[in-house]
Amino acid sequence: MTDMEKHHRYSPSSLHRRSLCPASAGMEAMCPEEGGSAAAERGTAIHRALADWLGWCLADSRRPSFPDDADAQMTCEAIMEFAEGIVRGGVPPYELRAEMRLQLRDTFGEVLTEGTADLVWQDTEGLWHVADWKTGRTPVPEAASNWQASAYAAALAQQSRADRVCVHIVQPPLGLSTSREFGGEELAEVASAIMEVVAEGEATGAPCRPSPEACRFCRARLVCTAWRLAQDNALRVPAGLEVARMDDELLAAEYGRVQVAEAYASALREELERRCDARRGEVGGYVLRERAGAQVIGDAELAAEVAESMGLGRERVLSLASLSLTSLARACWEQARASDPKATLTRTRAQLTEALEGVGALERRAPTRTLAKSPAREG
Ligand code: SF4
Repeated sequence: MTDMEKHHRYSPSSLHRRSLCPASAGMEAMCPEEGGSAAAERGTAIHRALADWLGWCLADSRRPSFPDDADAQMTCEAIMEFAEGIVRGGVPPYELRAEMRLQLRDTFGEVLTEGTADLVWQDTEGLWHVADWKTGRTPVPEAASNWQASAYAAALAQQSRADRVCVHIVQPPLGLSTSREFGGEELAEVASAIMEVVAEGEATGAPCRPSPEACRFCRARLVCTAWRLAQDNALRVPAGLEVARMDDELLAAEYGRVQVAEAYASALREELERRCDARRGEVGGYVLRERAGAQVIGDAELAAEVAESMGLGRERVLSLASLSLTSLARACWEQARASDPKATLTRTRAQLTEALEGVGALERRAPTRTLAKSPAREG
């Protein structure tokens, strides 16, 4: 893995997920990025327009304009108001740095995480600030507990040799703007927490820890068994996954993973059946439901005689590969249709069954017991 790929795996925006699910970096690396959603494309367009305006020192001629999208226009105007407030506070427009690349390195100089901050500036008191624009309506943790924001703060502190940094998260669609100032010790804690996240994610056998928060934006969701097992309908084919279009490697890997889950499910089922049986009742909402055993032909010679009495020739009886009630009923029905086009399989089968029972040619298999949800719980 190149350094670039590693930085990308631990980008500031992915750190929250990496901290919750260490396996997510490796899992996502197996799933190529697809084209962004319409919302992501819209967000990129807003970010670009704002960066352009900031790059032109807030020139009126470069003010972002989204005439066909009132929400995007409102978002831009709120962020422009935020930037103009900084200038009114005494920071010259040419000192606002839009889309600034920030890197956080460990003590050996290795890049831990790297990303692009939307706006960086130093106020008239000498305090450094970094701001991140959120253009969607998905709530994000506020600045005080936001991994992305704290990673930017630690990286900016390291790059500018500052001992204090203030981060701002501005999310106009939700009318939110939160700030948090990080001091020296907190910045060091952030850096060591990120170091731990990277080490845990890169360790062999990094564990999957599914949770709604971790999995929500994880690209690996459709192929992640841990996530699927965490759902109610665990092994259902996930929405959006077309088994017929999976590539060979993914199909085989997925089959291998699900086999492990099958073995686990069997062990659970057997134990649940054993407990239901021992207690003769419900266990955790499950009961053993008994079904009468199937009726099968016990005496083939008698059955052949019955079939012959219903018009089926001996040769036809002998031609049946297996003398089951179903195959015999079907053969009798085909024979009956030759003289009566209205003959039905159901009626023929009922007549045959009655006749076979009459001569004692049928026997019943042992009843079966299967695990089922207790009706009381289902209701
Ligand atoms: S889907 Fe969830 S459990 Fe699976 S790798 Fe992603 S974050 Fe982890």
